[in-house]
Amino acid sequence: MEDGSATRPPTESVVARFTRYAAIDTQSADDVRSVPSTPTQWELGRLLVDELHELDVPDAWLSDTCVVYATVPPNLDEAAHVPVVGLIAHMDTASAVSGANVKVMIHSDYQGGDIVLPGDPTQVISVAENPVLSDMLGDDIITADGTTLLGSDDKAGIAEILTTVDTLRQNPQIRHGPIAIAFTPDEEPGSGIEAFDVLRFGAAFAYTIDGQGLGVIYDETWHARTATVTFSGRNTHPGTAKGILVNSVFALADFVSRLPPDMLPETTDGRAGFVHPTRGSIEVEESTLVIGLRDFETSGLDAQERLLREIASDTQARLPDVRIAMEVREMYRNIKDVLKEHPHLIETAIEATRRAGLTPTVQPIRGGTDGAYLTFRGLPTPDLFNGGCNYHSKQEFTSRRGLEKTTEMLVHLVQIVADKTPSPYDR
Ligand SMILES: [Zn+2]
Repeated sequence: MEDGSATRPPTESVVARFTRYAAIDTQSADDVRSVPSTPTQWELGRLLVDELHELDVPDAWLSDTCVVYATVPPNLDEAAHVPVVGLIAHMDTASAVSGANVKVMIHSDYQGGDIVLPGDPTQVISVAENPVLSDMLGDDIITADGTTLLGSDDKAGIAEILTTVDTLRQNPQIRHGPIAIAFTPDEEPGSGIEAFDVLRFGAAFAYTIDGQGLGVIYDETWHARTATVTFSGRNTHPGTAKGILVNSVFALADFVSRLPPDMLPETTDGRAGFVHPTRGSIEVEESTLVIGLRDFETSGLDAQERLLREIASDTQARLPDVRIAMEVREMYRNIKDVLKEHPHLIETAIEATRRAGLTPTVQPIRGGTDGAYLTFRGLPTPDLFNGGCNYHSKQEFTSRRGLEKTTEMLVHLVQIVADKTPSPYDR
């Protein structure tokens, strides 16, 4: 493709594929123990297995935890020397905004201006808040109708991967090695990836196609820990409580009020980390508070942890009758710790992005990804753009060009892996 020779189009456009997947409700649920967290995710899983079979990927199958696995066979004789590249996207949508009855709207030949969503005219995708719209004149902007999210996070990734498979099948002249594909459930609650079978997946390295924007390559995630602070008081009947009752609620309130206002997600950006009190419970006898700790450096996380312990001891000094205990758990680690040992992954993604006519930018993601989990289980996995914007929101949008360019990037990506000398990927 890089020499400008014509490629035959896929049998179905990536927009049509995306529209079909977006219409299927796959909203996941937090705090549900079973995987998948919602039964509706099976429907998309089964459909994707069928569609992979139709695209001559006969080994596609659905695991008992609703992970779709498949391997596209190589079209090279010397394929044994080409590493298996993994492409991963997730099927579920966020719990925060409804994903039921998504009505995909295509705003053809966008000519600028704010986009008012007809299902709820208070939902306006404005140029002021989305300057990227200025670069999208003439594109077909794809939104929901304002009453639901769109689900380009991450059904765009799924549609792009399947359209890549379709395109490769239509163009046997495009050289590629084996491609391992996985579509996962419950990425949003974070539980779906835990049953992922890295060995059976069989890839040497992988990419999640789950990032916002067009051309953005994410080579870093947070280091993440969760602190649970428990405040233990003493309950008794309030009628006879004088001098006896110790109310843990006041200790929790004192602790929260001491968190520095300039270290919160709502007051930080760029490379600055944060502490984020997310949930808890209050009872006289015992109150608990769960706090997310996030930083790109472990030293930053250590400092946050020290700070929380200092705050706990200040609260303890003020309210000595309450017992305060803090437990800290590691959630995931910055993928850069591993990716820096495999620079070819990012180099390949940059080159593929360029060949698709896009400007690559490499930046950290202020979050975690399924790739963070996989990277530390032996499968180095950066995250690549999928063309979408405003994830987890009724103002989420993507575009025809975003979907097509991401697909083009993926076709280049597998070709570059096949064309490169194999040695850098030997593990
Ligand atoms: Zn996502």
